[in-house]
Amino acid sequence: MEIPTQADVIVIGSGFGGAVAAARLAQAGFSVIVLERGRRWALGEFPRRPVLEDGWLWDVDRGLYDIRWLGTMAAVQGAGWGGGSLVYANVFSRPFEGAMDQRWPAHLRREELDRYYDLAAHMMGLSPAGDDPATGSSPARTTAIENMVRNMAIPDSTVRPNLAVTFGDPETWRENMHGVPRRGCAYVGECIIGCNHGAKNTLDATYLAVAEAHGAFSLTDAEATRIEPDSDEDDPTYTVTVTTPSDPRAPVRRFTASQVVLAAGAVATNELLLRSRDRHATLPGLSPQLGRGFSGNGDFVTLTQLRGEGANMSTGPTITTSTVLSVPEGRSTVWYQVQDGAIPPPLQALYDTLAPARNARQRWQRLRKTHPNRTFALLAMGQDSARGTLRLDAKGQAVLTWANRWQRHLYRSQRRVGPLVAKLLGARQYNPITWSLLRRTTTVHPLGGVRPGPEAASGVVDSAGEVYGYPGLWVMDGSVLPAATGVNPSATILASTERSVEAMIRRSGHSNWRAPEWEDVRPMEAPEDAAFQAAAEQQRATEGNGVTFCERMGTYSTSYRSADRGDRPRQLSMTLAAEVSSLTAFFANPVHPVTIQGTIDVEGVARRASIAGILSLFPEGSAEAMRYDLKFDDDRGVPWHLTGVKRVESRRPDALLRGLTTLQTRISPVNKGSSEAPDPSAPSLGTNRPDYSEHDEEAEQLVLRISTMDLARLGASLRGLGFTQLRRIRAVGRFADFFARSALRTPAPSRIRPQTSENPRSLA
Ligand SMILES: Cc1cc2nc3c(=O)[nH]c(=O)nc-3n(C[C@H](O)[C@H](O)[C@H](O)COP(=O)(O)OP(=O)(O)OC[C@H]3O[C@@H](n4cnc5c(N)ncnc54)[C@H](O)[C@@H]3O)c2cc1C
Ligand code: SF4
Repeated sequence: MEIPTQADVIVIGSGFGGAVAAARLAQAGFSVIVLERGRRWALGEFPRRPVLEDGWLWDVDRGLYDIRWLGTMAAVQGAGWGGGSLVYANVFSRPFEGAMDQRWPAHLRREELDRYYDLAAHMMGLSPAGDDPATGSSPARTTAIENMVRNMAIPDSTVRPNLAVTFGDPETWRENMHGVPRRGCAYVGECIIGCNHGAKNTLDATYLAVAEAHGAFSLTDAEATRIEPDSDEDDPTYTVTVTTPSDPRAPVRRFTASQVVLAAGAVATNELLLRSRDRHATLPGLSPQLGRGFSGNGDFVTLTQLRGEGANMSTGPTITTSTVLSVPEGRSTVWYQVQDGAIPPPLQALYDTLAPARNARQRWQRLRKTHPNRTFALLAMGQDSARGTLRLDAKGQAVLTWANRWQRHLYRSQRRVGPLVAKLLGARQYNPITWSLLRRTTTVHPLGGVRPGPEAASGVVDSAGEVYGYPGLWVMDGSVLPAATGVNPSATILASTERSVEAMIRRSGHSNWRAPEWEDVRPMEAPEDAAFQAAAEQQRATEGNGVTFCERMGTYSTSYRSADRGDRPRQLSMTLAAEVSSLTAFFANPVHPVTIQGTIDVEGVARRASIAGILSLFPEGSAEAMRYDLKFDDDRGVPWHLTGVKRVESRRPDALLRGLTTLQTRISPVNKGSSEAPDPSAPSLGTNRPDYSEHDEEAEQLVLRISTMDLARLGASLRGLGFTQLRRIRAVGRFADFFARSALRTPAPSRIRPQTSENPRSLA
């Protein structure tokens, strides 16, 4: 077929930005040439053999992965027809509106972009991971993570993200909405090395298929090296110079168009523009902002290796869960997302072949009785500073100015996740060698450098992506995002490109143009929003860290006289787990509420019944040291109310000890004379406080004591709650200090003389 050299539009790059641009421009009737440096990857051709020359690396044999060392960070990208979608983990995720700062202009905020996210979601075909068709249950990795967060009491912070994967029967081929045959995911966990099974909804099976169906001409093995406008400043024609990566000696080719869309990915797009401005001087008027605002999207990877030879952690799509954490670090709060990542066995095999001391490593594995398929990755991403600057080195290659300290809180917090997960799962944790040895991070989500702005002094492109000073030159890929998305960014690249290319087509004379698929688009749920919301609430609920402790007390004497037992005291014992989840909220509330849950045994009434409620610890303005408002159900299911107070009569040590370990209680069935438990979180002490002077025929009073042994256990049970050891220790210190000061404060004379076992008031 004859290769055209001229078109209305040249699109450089066939990744997320390039694919959308090519599809929409072709649908709108423009003649389009798409230039892609990489090759087409047919099913079955993705590299699997453990030798580098099998097509793994761009630098070795124009393979799948282009790993760029930028001096201060490594950037990993896909190369080929479909760009990053060939190797990505399929996650379609929207950034959280509440976490976007002023660097995000209105046109890239959720309010404006949400409908374009919906359009892109419709085009890509999304679903969360379900059950493995081979086993009928969730992948072992998914189950391990979901169980872990359930045990951590943060289950709502974890969701199964939407994946651009076809699920269903793994043997049956069906055409997707773009007419490309796909079959159900086989859960082989090889998504990041190219899906040989045909289940990933990659760009070549979605947007690029649309582009080609509408006449776009695609040229692979074609690397754009230079962009040059002619002398017409108002309406220039651009010449794009192209080399042939598979044959460096082949003559260069030139293509011309009045419009060029640059979509080579954040690193290559910046590099091409920097060269055009600073070396070739073909685009000398590019903004001084070019290269600034580069972000690694806060990526931080750790590896977790489960001990023993249990379930295989490499099955399932590469990523199946997203957990959002919002945690204090230093004086600020950082949030980030952590995802589980399968490590494909062929990649493990490649590493095994290339890494030194293979025999020793294998012996070590046998000794430790573990298997490579027990290792999985934890992929954290968040909002880094996006303060990086890309520039060219002496050879014209991009290098990055970046300092880890600009996002030290984020990195420090992310580094805590690996050891925490390892501890919770009884696993080992490793950092990648680039971090352990060089303290350099690796990003698979390079972003920025071509920031939008209201004018050339503050931005390289305008809000539609058109380059200031060069009409008809557009940028539509990850480089135009002004800061880290903090989530997997391809959805934002798709959505922002949908919006940009719509504006481009409308500016080119088709004023009402819209994508034909709009008719079928429906709003799509974003599960990550719920996870972010849950994490934010969790963060509020645990502000200032917290403490837990366990208290056990039992009947010492009683006023109860019953016909059955004569004067023998009714036995009652309780074991209570107390929790202050947020010390900030605890100190701010004058009632100082502590959440209580536990079990209660009441002779003849309830056996090992669950009991729950609130303990007010040294409530302000009250003579009481502690007040309990608890509820339990008796053996017949009738609800009971237990109220109780501890009072300190004097600061004498013996009186102090007696007061803090003696609980005057009253129990009664709720529907038989006892009022509902008061709201303990209310700042006022309330009017329905238990009044021991009140005569109540149905209620029964018991005096409980904490024995010396249980007092020692109580002290030993005090634990801090917080994301770090230091925070936990500090929380215990603050709580202990509060307790000691409050206990030693001169007690106000009590209005009501407390009852003791010596002067019980019999109510029966
Ligand atoms: C292992 C891995 C897993 C990932 N998982 C996810 C995920 O689950 N979800 C998510 O949202 N993101 C994920 N990403 C990130 C995602 O792939 C990128 O954010 C996305 O591909 C960037 O899109 P883009 O349009 O900016 O560029 P790209 O998709 O990188 O496309 C750029 C294209 O331009 C081509 N090109 C470069 N230079 C030239 C040139 N000079 N001439 C011609 N062609 C050129 C490249 O070969 C490439 O095909 C992952 C990335 C990696 C590496
Ligand atoms: S898990 Fe396997 S079959 Fe499913 S999308 Fe990934 S590579 Fe393809």
